[in-house]
Amino acid sequence: MSDLSGKTAIVTGGASGIGRGITLTLAEKGADVVVADLNDQPRTPDTTPTLEAVDDETDSRGLFVECDVTDYDDLVGAVDEAEAFGGVDVMVNNAGIVHSVEFFETTDEDFDTLVDVNLKGAYYGCQAAGERMLENGGGSIVNVASTAADQGFVEPGSILYCAAKGGVKSMTYAIADLLGPEVRVNAVQPGFTDETGLAENHDPEAATARAEETVMERLGTPRDVGNVTAFLASDQASYVTAESILVDGGWVNIGGP
Ligand code: NAD
Repeated sequence: MSDLSGKTAIVTGGASGIGRGITLTLAEKGADVVVADLNDQPRTPDTTPTLEAVDDETDSRGLFVECDVTDYDDLVGAVDEAEAFGGVDVMVNNAGIVHSVEFFETTDEDFDTLVDVNLKGAYYGCQAAGERMLENGGGSIVNVASTAADQGFVEPGSILYCAAKGGVKSMTYAIADLLGPEVRVNAVQPGFTDETGLAENHDPEAATARAEETVMERLGTPRDVGNVTAFLASDQASYVTAESILVDGGWVNIGGP
């Protein structure tokens, strides 16, 4: 399933965490992959750099493009680099950061820091790749939102993150309407995912508690998200657009904590 042979994918934030898992999964399924990130180093220690793993573990080609998703021109640059592999067929807008701030203490700087990467970066990614996909006859975009897009049971300090991820989810539907039928646009909503920069910085006890709250009794992995992303990216999902899929072990739909 999820055959991506002959396709070219761009993964923003693909050097680390969930983006790394998505990159490796897409490459295993046959896609050549452009990793568009600030740098090519995984944030989790003892992890093989993503492009090295693509080279060693898959038959696909990979290349790294230095890209800050808050800069539209950088995203156009990544789309241009994908021409080396035949042009972008799949765009995964994954780059994101965590920036906790209490609601009543939120400053303009906090707002810009988080929203610029998590919402504007994905929006620009849809613009840059979507335009080229329309010129080239079609494609598939997958935006990485979060369970935070659906949450009313937020952790202190995460309301701004929820606002941005809610925006990613709802814009996915609107952009799907605009770019269809040539370009399908969907989202994935990971729950708490292990082997990521976020998990590295999280209190281990809180992570264990979160795992126990899921139906699956474990945290997600980058490959869990990668597999769903690969399906949405592939022609097997040819009638799926304007959809958002939770990859959270059942956590949100059984009521969260
Ligand atoms: P991570 O820190 O492991 O990886 C994020 C990657 O994005 C890094 O390689 C980083 O260099 C890159 N990045 C950050 N800012 C960038 C920018 N301006 N331009 C280009 N690249 C940039 O984080 P992760 O946990 O794997 O997060 C990936 C995505 O998944 C994010 O959108 C995050 O919000 C989302 N998410 C994560 C979790 C989780 O539990 N880890 C849960 C739900 C959603």
